[in-house]
Amino acid sequence: MKAVVKTEVGYDHMEYMDVPEPEATGDLVKIKIAYSGICGTDLHAFNGTYASTKPPVILGHEFSGVVVEVGPDVKKIKVGDRVTSETTFKTCGVCPMCLSKDYNLCGNRQGIGTQINGSMAEYLVSREESVHVLPDNVSLLSASLTEPLACGVHSVIEKGNVQPGDIVVVFGAGAIGQMVSQVAKSQGATVIIAGLTQDEHRFELALAAGADRCVDQQKEDLKAIVMEMTNNVGADKCFECSGAVPALNKALEIVRRKGTVVQMGVFSNTHETIWTDLILHREIVYVGSRSQKPSSWVKALELMRDGVVVPEKIATYLTPLENWREGFEKMIKGEVTKGIIVLDDTLE
Ligand SMILES: [Zn+2]
Ligand SMILES: [Zn+2]
Repeated sequence: MKAVVKTEVGYDHMEYMDVPEPEATGDLVKIKIAYSGICGTDLHAFNGTYASTKPPVILGHEFSGVVVEVGPDVKKIKVGDRVTSETTFKTCGVCPMCLSKDYNLCGNRQGIGTQINGSMAEYLVSREESVHVLPDNVSLLSASLTEPLACGVHSVIEKGNVQPGDIVVVFGAGAIGQMVSQVAKSQGATVIIAGLTQDEHRFELALAAGADRCVDQQKEDLKAIVMEMTNNVGADKCFECSGAVPALNKALEIVRRKGTVVQMGVFSNTHETIWTDLILHREIVYVGSRSQKPSSWVKALELMRDGVVVPEKIATYLTPLENWREGFEKMIKGEVTKGIIVLDDTLE
């Protein structure tokens, strides 16, 4: 079968090539891939700046498809099921994090698309425990974005505890910021997205998907806007999804006393100073939110089934597998919010 393989560590070293089809042994489910999202971590893998990627490996961990074969130990999943899958392929199973199903924090976890062959290929195998059957009314295109949506669920609901009426500020209008915004709206919050002038097309997507206000911080004063909206109290909750330390500092500045700041972004420059004194003096709750866990997937699929979150609204660019390089380039240049590789759209 055809696949996009990261062949060696370092910059690029990526190839569109023929590889053997995976086999559905044991508890493995073989999935014919319909769509595979291009994630920020895939771009880091391309650049050679993502230590978790262990070449040679097929990239891709956001996907949907149809089951074509199941291993002898598979109990519930059937051939023909429309599915998506968590990215967890293997965990130690005995550490405290595994026992509470916080697989995102198991130190010995192996993930699809980083250490285990991923979805930028015609077929993929995943363990049954990680596979989720899709509600009938959820498109395969939206389902391919269950993983980033589950990251939003983990952050907004499981870590940020967003409540109806909360004023929420999301820093960053990329795919994760968009998912956080949609999930926060689904919980009854008022959502402000903070970005830069280059985010204009992303702002349009966010507003069309329900965000209340977008702020171009190069043209408008975010703090003044938030203070006016909150009678000088500050935002209830801020989500850092941009990976920029100045954005985190702005979040610490505009969140209310005893408010919550959730960090999802990965900071590439770790030498900039974080204003930790603000956390102390204003008793800010500063929380990390790393990827997602099984409960986040269940909730993400419910939100899609109920139609309150529609991830395909951000899928603005679709391209076939052999054209993967153009998709990566467009994402790196920031020309598209979310690029999707199409493996087989006839499955839809
Ligand atoms: Zn991802
Ligand atoms: Zn473990």
